[in-house]
Amino acid sequence: MDADVVVAGGGLAGAATAIALRTRGLSVIVCDKASFPREKACGEGLLPHGLELLQELGIGDVVDDCGGRPFSGILYHCQGVIARGDFEGGQHGRGLRRRELDAAVRARAAARGVQLVQGNVSAVDVDDTGASLRLSDGQMLRGRFVVGADGPRSVIRHGLGLDGGAPTSGRYALRQHFRLRVGAAVPDRVEVHVGDGHELYVTPVADDVVGVAALCEKRVMGAGEGKPADRLWSLIARCVPLAQRLEGCAPDGAALTCGPLRVKSRGVWRGRCVLVGDAAGYVDAITGEGMSLALKTAMLAADAIADVVAGGSLSRCFERYRQRRMQAFRDHAILTLGLVELARHPVFAKRTIARLARDPALFTRLLAVNNGTRPLLSLGLGDLAKLALGSSMARA
Ligand SMILES: Cc1cc2nc3c(=O)[nH]c(=O)nc-3n(C[C@H](O)[C@H](O)[C@H](O)COP(=O)(O)OP(=O)(O)OC[C@H]3O[C@@H](n4cnc5c(N)ncnc54)[C@H](O)[C@@H]3O)c2cc1C
Repeated sequence: MDADVVVAGGGLAGAATAIALRTRGLSVIVCDKASFPREKACGEGLLPHGLELLQELGIGDVVDDCGGRPFSGILYHCQGVIARGDFEGGQHGRGLRRRELDAAVRARAAARGVQLVQGNVSAVDVDDTGASLRLSDGQMLRGRFVVGADGPRSVIRHGLGLDGGAPTSGRYALRQHFRLRVGAAVPDRVEVHVGDGHELYVTPVADDVVGVAALCEKRVMGAGEGKPADRLWSLIARCVPLAQRLEGCAPDGAALTCGPLRVKSRGVWRGRCVLVGDAAGYVDAITGEGMSLALKTAMLAADAIADVVAGGSLSRCFERYRQRRMQAFRDHAILTLGLVELARHPVFAKRTIARLARDPALFTRLLAVNNGTRPLLSLGLGDLAKLALGSSMARA
């Protein structure tokens, strides 16, 4: 089976890349091992920037097919201290169940003529004129280009020799949906409850359903016992206000687990293959921008491939993709690494949250950096000093 481009992995990044390539007139096959709709461990909060990227892709109304709930910002809670921050200019993000969102984006891809194939990619072979995917049932898919969109454990990244090595301090995740009691208030912001060695994220994903994701250090994950649902509940139980709200709420689907979250890569292209989404590298879910980056890298990679097809030099176009992806990724990566470090020290986290509670405008600027609408440097020395002071005072 042949096409201009073969995409390994048909989650958000893969389906979005396929749509962007079809818009540029290229034929595309997307191969995913899963049968859709499928669940995916995710906090499921799409930032305002992610919603804009869906518009840019020409599928902004796809969220109408998935239901979901808007959220106006983030609420941080640590040991009784609460800070509420809103996105700039009244923007909203949206809580969307990945089961619905990924299936809906794939349906849009199919409607644009993308060929969807189910199969487990086991290897990639690259030569001067293209690349082939080998599936575990013996089938071969051949393209002039291959896109690796097969997530954090990417077979394509591994096959290209681009694995960046095991993370030194991996974090892990658990996630489950809960159906709220009749009349219970649905959060209007994504809530982040910071505990010792873990955070709990509560995202509204329907009028009566929230997703709860726990991000934990290895020691916390390793100390948990029993099934994923029991382990998640044992973390929820440590946060009394949240446990009281969720007590007696029926789980809506199974609890999922995944990790380590950190994915390192030594590069994002080789030969006629490019990596997008989590396959290209991932830091941590703490800042909740992974879906937006998946969409952004999908669009940038499609641009690069279209430029090569139009006669551009392959190495120059793909190198430009690497640089543009790095530009989109860098501020998030710095912010994410900083927050992961802060989360390791709840005492400092509490001080910083107290600072944000006293200065909602600073919180809004921080969210704008995370949303990709302001560069990290726009925070300025004053803002950084306030945040640093907020945490360093805890040492005194
Ligand atoms: C706990 C957690 C919470 C998160 N919270 C948020 C959040 O709130 N907001 C946000 O924006 N982001 C969040 N993220 C990040 C977000 O989930 C990812 O960044 C995003 O899903 C990346 O999309 P992707 O398409 O690259 O990868 P995936 O969604 O993982 O898709 C990869 C696809 O490849 C397929 N595949 C894998 N291997 C093969 C193979 N060998 N052959 C064929 N197919 C294959 C899989 O079946 C899958 O469909 C979170 C992540 C985690 C882990």
